[in-house]
Order: sequence, then structure tokens, then C-alpha cells
Amino acid sequence: MTVRDLASCPPPERWHDWVEYDAKAWPRKVEKHYEIIPTICFNCEAACGLMAYVDKETGRVKRFEGNPYHPGSRGRNCAKGPATINQVNDPERILYPLKRVGKRGEGKWERTNWDEVLDTFATKIRAAIVEDRRDEVMYHVGRPGHDGYMERVLGAWGIDGHNSHTNVCSSNARFGYHIWCGIDRPSPDHANARFILLISSHLETGHYFNPQAQRIIEGKMKGAKLAVMDPRLSNTASMADYWLATWPGSEAAVLLAMARIILVEKLYNRDYMRRWVNWQEYMAAEHPDEAQTFDHFIERLVDLYAEFTPTFAAQESGLAEEAIVDIARQIGHAGTAFAAHTWRAASAGNLGGWQVSRALWFLSVLTGSVGTAGGTAPYSWNKFVPTPFLKPPPADVWSELLYPPEYPLANYELSILLPYFLKEGRGKLSTYFTRVYNPVWTNPDGTAWIEMLTNEQQVELHAALTPTWNETAWYADYVLPMGIASERHDLMSQETHAGRWIGFRQPVLRVYKERHGEPVHYTYQANPGEVWEEDEFWIELSWRIDPDGSLGIRQYFESPYRSGEKLTIEEYYRWIFEHSVPGLPEAAAQEQLSPLEYMRKYGAFSIPQEKAPVYQLNEKELQLPELQGSIIDLARADMQADAAQRPISQSSSGIQVDGQSGVITRDGVNIGVMVDGKAYEGFPTPSRKQEFYSATLKEWGWPEYATPGYIHSHVHRSAINAERGEYLLIPTFRLPTLIHTRSGNAKWLNEISNANPVWIHPLDAERIGVQSGDLVRITTEIGYYVNRAWVTQGIRPGVVACSHHMGRWRLDTSRGADRWTSALVELGKEPDGIWRMKQIEGVRPYQSDDPDSARIFWREAGVHQNLTFSVHPDPVSGMHCWHQKVTVAAAPPEDSYGDVFVDRRKAQEVYERWITMTRPQTQRSDHLRRPLWMIRPYRPAASAFKQ
Ligand code: SF4
Repeated sequence: MTVRDLASCPPPERWHDWVEYDAKAWPRKVEKHYEIIPTICFNCEAACGLMAYVDKETGRVKRFEGNPYHPGSRGRNCAKGPATINQVNDPERILYPLKRVGKRGEGKWERTNWDEVLDTFATKIRAAIVEDRRDEVMYHVGRPGHDGYMERVLGAWGIDGHNSHTNVCSSNARFGYHIWCGIDRPSPDHANARFILLISSHLETGHYFNPQAQRIIEGKMKGAKLAVMDPRLSNTASMADYWLATWPGSEAAVLLAMARIILVEKLYNRDYMRRWVNWQEYMAAEHPDEAQTFDHFIERLVDLYAEFTPTFAAQESGLAEEAIVDIARQIGHAGTAFAAHTWRAASAGNLGGWQVSRALWFLSVLTGSVGTAGGTAPYSWNKFVPTPFLKPPPADVWSELLYPPEYPLANYELSILLPYFLKEGRGKLSTYFTRVYNPVWTNPDGTAWIEMLTNEQQVELHAALTPTWNETAWYADYVLPMGIASERHDLMSQETHAGRWIGFRQPVLRVYKERHGEPVHYTYQANPGEVWEEDEFWIELSWRIDPDGSLGIRQYFESPYRSGEKLTIEEYYRWIFEHSVPGLPEAAAQEQLSPLEYMRKYGAFSIPQEKAPVYQLNEKELQLPELQGSIIDLARADMQADAAQRPISQSSSGIQVDGQSGVITRDGVNIGVMVDGKAYEGFPTPSRKQEFYSATLKEWGWPEYATPGYIHSHVHRSAINAERGEYLLIPTFRLPTLIHTRSGNAKWLNEISNANPVWIHPLDAERIGVQSGDLVRITTEIGYYVNRAWVTQGIRPGVVACSHHMGRWRLDTSRGADRWTSALVELGKEPDGIWRMKQIEGVRPYQSDDPDSARIFWREAGVHQNLTFSVHPDPVSGMHCWHQKVTVAAAPPEDSYGDVFVDRRKAQEVYERWITMTRPQTQRSDHLRRPLWMIRPYRPAASAFKQ
């Protein structure tokens, strides 16, 4: 074997023995032999492919690089991918399960064993299930890192206990998409676009950074123009043709002005609008006495958006009128090749932020670019989630801690309000799992979470399942170390481009050992210390909850190959690969491999387009034998009849076609829609069309929002008084090099990014009297924090911004959070609900097994701003609206870097103010808690939707 040059990636036929010269031995030519094993990055949701280089001499992973056989990332990673090796070797990682021995939060721990952990939790959960307290077990996830696994576990347990972080992340953006088309994420086909519009660049800068960013550049290289609407000059905005620094919260006004221009100048896609928008429903509901024609609908649209002139949008946003008009025209001319995206920032920051994504999707609908080449698809058209064996039925249980009556339309769980709900006595948690989730630090109002977690009446038993120490784990009863990217199995797929793929995360050293004849029964046997993988944890726990199978739980964790025996994790994935992934068995057979062996070899598989098409799936014709013949003919005749006389066509097989809307139902469930005399699948909405008009919003208490509109944000310009030193704070933006809390254990990433100063425009800095590096006090509704200023033209005047990444802290000299990233602090509660944090010491070099820990050169750890934010639940979507009205002033002499002050009484007042903005719908004649068609991540039985 000779050493090849490194111009390209090692070819798979040489992955079993890849040879390189040892760089450290230079100038001698010393060969190093590696085995290359693919896995999937766990450092953001994008699920890029990694290749682990296992040193054959030591049996340890030497480094991670990109996997060119991964269809999403195509061999490329952001900085966070290769930094996985830091996480493997982090000298402060937790290697053994820990149990609290003092009071919660006191920081006293002892090592325990997994048997004790599993028995403790199994006993507690079994009791809750047997005693029908099935809303008292909660699994609260930050980074899922898998597709469908936990939903199956919770379904098998028959509980309503899935809670997520989405309420602080994306549920506003999701709601805007969901209300249009029934699917709550967009998937832009950037590579084939002619015009790309990003409202904030959150995903492209820091979240799906790598897969989306590389396709944006690909599109640009083919001639696409890029516009980024973001008050902050992000990395992506810096690459744009147009940086549109809007006033935060004004984005929907700008987008609706663009929509109006496209309508007035007749740049819209008439055919798409006529066929796929529920305009008939709008006209019938809102203008019943007028001509029910498409042309009249367009006239009505122009009227509806009459106020959204370029002048108005410019006043609201601060953009130039010419720029709004110019970009609107370019979007109109891009037509079906208009790609658009929004995620956090504008949608996540503002009251009514869901109207931003809704207005953006409006542009996609107007241009007919939904699911086209170069357009934007609903995400599920570009994602593939295979089904496992034996799916549990949905449970007949509803947790009002997750979906309370005030928020019947909430797109995800009301996660941020959990401490308030428990305090109000709406329930309690018998068992609470936080998994790769750190609400004390990540969520707003972190002191409310500390108070909740230290209250043993509210939370009886809490386990933090985490690969690394974090602020929330400090308040747990058990800290359970779980594997990182190369130490676990997961199946993942993401909407990275116009295509569908699956990626297989696998425990690298387990695979390595097994290939070399060393059997491994559980992944922890190959991982460092006793680090488990979650998949196996849940199988073991489920067997202990239901040891004899009498609860009906165990069956879901029995092998599909060995009747009645415990499922192995290899069998779980083997079954999926053999049965649920179109094209995989054939591709594997071509290489004389089993499907599992194929996935172990390549780590990813691209579903052939002929097996899973990705474009214009709404146009898929319904293939129901019952629909052939008379029922279709009858429906066609109905659609041509006068609206008032249209009957319902009915077949003997339970299929009905509504003569007015064309909606096709089977046994009462919407399955498709008639369009121009043909039966199509359409979209998963009540009308099976794009819902410009949402009868749901009207019926559920929000008639003024039945159509896309513009809601004045809580930080609308009129709410900010510059004369009084008030500013709008953007606290949401990401850096491309960090992850929420998990990058704390990646030394390279901390070396690159180790401060979160407050961005201030030079004009504002002059007014405040500060320069870069000076301390400023940022005062919110409930407290303040003290941070350094960074004076830059990369932020619009009147707005300040602070990255949410840093400000990690620990209460113990050497435990609680990684020392690469955290400050040692004092945190205390005073009488009357006052909390104060003071940094005792910033980041310092320290001795460890890693000599780099003694070479740390940065000294500050950033400032934890989220503690000073009260909850702002949007009354419709439930999403926390992150932006803050603040005052910014030079810090007084008594302030120190990192000081945090919080008044819990004020936090309670703000919570009460926001929750009174809701419109509960508890007196409905159908007794529904929530529209049946709306999604939930874990969906209980339809019967549970009724009160
Ligand atoms: S974008 Fe970066 S962090 Fe996210 S999965 Fe890819 S390599 Fe990992």
C-alpha cells in the first residue's frame, strides 16, 4: 500500500486501511494506518456526514472529516464537524452516571451504576402508567438527533410526555408555514434558484450552515441573486447582493408590499394561484355577495393589501422604497425559481412573528414556486423518515402542561411556561428527563427554571441525559452521560436540498471492534467510561417498566427476528433498512452487501428520485380504484354546477367529494382535492389547497388574522423611545462556530469564539458615550446584565444585538460546565424574589490530561443574557418572542463584567400580561381542544383532542 496524495477524499475501497504519513514524524516518512468509519455529526440539526479516522495502532479516533458519500453535506463540514474530536477527548466530560447526594443544586454527587439508575426510573414510571398519571412523565428534548425513535418510545409507554425546545426556537416560523400548507418547515432549492430571499440568515449562517450555505453559493455561481433581510450583517448577508437591514418586526410589511407589487404588476403565476389557492373559500366567506371568480379574487387581493405601498413598507422598515420595488420585481420575474427561507430571528423575535413566514410563503405561492425546481418545497417533500417495525397506537391522553387551553393553536408545546404552570398547580412531574437540553441557560427566565427544578413537589425525579455538564444538569437528581456523534446510533434525514436521503449515525468504536472480531453487546462497552447511547437506554428502561409484558409496552422492544427476546439496537436499524427505505436493498445487493452493511459502510443513502420524487408533490394524482369512473364523473359535474346547488358526491366505499370545495374524503378524513376535473393529493390542509384564507384561525378566535397580515410587534418602532435611551435588542443570532451549550466541550470552537459583546452602531455608541470594549448595562423589563460593547456598522442604528451563544457559568471550581467556556459565578436569591449573579473568575488555564487546557489565552466567558428576559409567549403560536425593548447605558462604576440582576416579581407580572392576550376556546360545541388537522410532534389519539 502506498500513500496517495490528499487532493481528494480516500475512496471507499481503501477505507479499511487508509495510509498516511505521520505529520509529526516529518521529515521521516512514517506510515500511519487508519480505518475510516462514517458517522453523522451531532453538533447541529443538519446531520452532515463525518468520517472517523480510527488509528489502527491505538484503536482510538484520531480525527473527523467530511463524508463525500453523504448527499446532504457532500464531504463538507462547518468548523463544528471536525471539532467532534474535541468532544470525544474533552478532559472534563462526564464518563459515569452520577447521583445527587446533597440537596438539589448543592453540587454534591456520587458515582452510581446504570442498574440502579434504570431500576429507579422504571419503578417511578411504571407507577405513573399503572396509576393512570400518564401526563406526569415528561421527556424534554433540546437536540433530538434522530427521526422518530423517541416518539415511538413515548407512544409505547402510552403517555403524553413529549416536550421540546421548539417553543424557544422555531414554532413561530413553523406556524406561518403550517397554516398555509399543513407542513411547517420550508425547504428551498437554492442551487437551482434565480432569486433567493432569506429573512434573517439564521439557518444559513449558523444552523444548517454547511448544507444550505454551499447550495446558496452554488446558486449564486449559476447566476442567482441573493437578498438577505437582517438588521445584522451576518456572514450570509455579507455574501448577498442585497443586504436589507430592516427594523426588526417590520419584515411582514415589506413582504406584503412586495406581494402587492407582484399582484399589481401582474407578475404572479395565475395558473398556480387559480388551481392551488383556496380562493373560492375566501370569496365565499368574506365576499359572498360578489362575483365568485378568480379575477375578482385578484382584485380583492389588491384591495386587501392597498395599505402596503412601498412608501408604507419603507416607513415601517427603514428600507429604501426603490429597493423594495426592485426586489419585488426580481422575485416576480424569477417566477417558479424563487427560493425563500426564514427560521429564527424575525419570526422568533417578534409578537406575531408567524406572520413573517406566512407573508414570505405568500410570495412563494404568488410566484408558483412551491415545490418547483429552484423554488421552495414543504420540508417533508425533501426529507425521508422510514417507519420502524410495530408502531404503537396513539394514546388517549392529553397533557395540559404541554398544550394548555389558552393556546389551542400552539404549534409546539408551551415549553417556556412549564415553571409557571407547575407553580400554579396545573399538575406535577413525577419523572422528568431533560435530554441534550439546558433550559436554565437556554430558555428565557432561567431563574424560574432553577426554582422549578429545586422544588421536589413540582418535579419529583429529574435525570439530565447529556453528553456534557450544563447548568440544568446541576439541578438534576441524576446526570446520565450519553454518547456524542461517534458514540451512538441514530437515523437522520434533513431537508438540505431538493432530494431525499437518510444518514446513519453509528458508534464508531463499536463498529471498529466488531469488525475486528470483538463482540460488543451494548455500545457503552466500546465508548469511553460508561457512556451509554440513548437508544439502548430506552430499550432497557422499557423492559424494566414492563418486565413481563403485561402492560403491553415490552412488545415494542422485542426483536422482530427473535420472538419474545429483547431487541438489540442493530436489529432495530437492520429491520428499517431491509423494509422501509426504497432502493436501499437493491443498492446494497449490487455490492453484495446487506442493507445494514451498506449503511455501516457508507453512512448515508440517497433515495432514488424515481422512488421518491421531490417536486410538485401536490400534483400527485390520487390512485384510488374507488375514484375511477362514476364518482369522478359526478364530481366533475358537481364542480361545474352553480355553487349554491353543488351536492356531495358519494361512493359506496366511504369516499365523498364535496361539490363546492372539491375536497375528497374517505371515511370523513380529507385525502385529496379535485382540481380542473382531476383528483390530486394536494396539501394536508382542510381544503387540501394552499390556505390563503384560514378558516381555522377565524373559527378559533382570530378572525382578523384569517389572511396573511402584519402584526405590530411588541418591539415595533413606536414602542421604542430613543430619546429615553431605549433600543431594540436582538438576542437570538448565532455564530457559525458554536452550538447552544454543547460546544462548551470543543476547545477549538472556544478558541475561535469566546465573547458575546453587544453590537452597537457608531451613532448609538457616540450617543451613549461608549467605545468598543467599554462596559454597558443592558436593562430589560425584569433586570439587567453587564457586557462589553462592540461598536460596528454591521448593525442598524437603534438596534443592538448580542449572540445567544456565550455566558456559560458554573457554581463549582471544576464542575458544572466546561472550563474552556464558563465563568465561575456566585448566584443567589435574595428576599422578595431578587436574583443576582456575579462572576468570581472568568476563563483560566488549568491542568488536565489535555495540555491545551494550560494554554487557554482568553479570559472572559461571555455574559448570560437570557436570565434577564421574561417569557413572551405569542398568544397564537405560543412561541417565545425573543426581542427585547431595553435601555442601554454606560455601566455605572459599581457594575462588573457579567453581572446579572433579575426581579422575579416583575417576571411574574410580564407572564400574566402576556397570557391574558390569549383567547382560550373552551366553550366549543365540538369540545375540541385543538383543530384535529393541526400537527403535534407526539400526536395522541383523536379522542384525546376532545375535552
Ligand atoms: S452544519 Fe456543521 S454542525 Fe451542523 S451537522 Fe454540518 S458539520 Fe455538523
